[in-house]
Amino acid sequence: MNVEYIYLQLYRLFDKSTPIKADCGKLCKKRCCKGDDGGMYLFPGEEKVFKLLKPNWAKTEKSDFYYEFGGKRKNVPILFCDGICDRYQRPLACRIFPLTPYINKDGKAEIIIDPRAKSMCPLSNTLDIADFDGGFVKNIKKAFAVLMRSKEITEYLKAYSEYIDEYKKFFKE
Ligand code: SF4
Ligand code: SF4
Repeated sequence: MNVEYIYLQLYRLFDKSTPIKADCGKLCKKRCCKGDDGGMYLFPGEEKVFKLLKPNWAKTEKSDFYYEFGGKRKNVPILFCDGICDRYQRPLACRIFPLTPYINKDGKAEIIIDPRAKSMCPLSNTLDIADFDGGFVKNIKKAFAVLMRSKEITEYLKAYSEYIDEYKKFFKE
């Protein structure tokens, strides 16, 4: 199956599954959608979803952040929006926010609170991972268990986890 269709299937896991049972957007007036930079990194191959759907609210471009795979340097695509989107077309990073996959020092994949969320998201500052909706966390694990069957996505996640480490230094738990 083409990678874009895998992402589209995984997106469905998050159509109704949210970080907590309540609408957290009402808590903070959707702060995570109002950042000035507004960019969300796409996971490898995910840009093909946006080439397919061509949403008029999104713009994608190559970022400076890169990983290496198959001897090639791959610049990671980033999606920009103006703070409004079609909920059913939003990228995976938005669906799982404020959590993120992370490959730890033992090489194991885990789901953590994204340290980049700490400066804006009240959930990330007040909750532990165990306080998030169990079904939501389970769906993220499920999605990345599928995605990490791809060697390229696993390589990407290693580089991404090193990038996350830089933010962790500023937000010691
Ligand atoms: S910033 Fe956090 S609390 Fe606010 S809408 Fe986003 S995920 Fe929910
Ligand atoms: S794509 Fe949608 S969910 Fe993601 S930051 Fe933009 S408005 Fe928010």
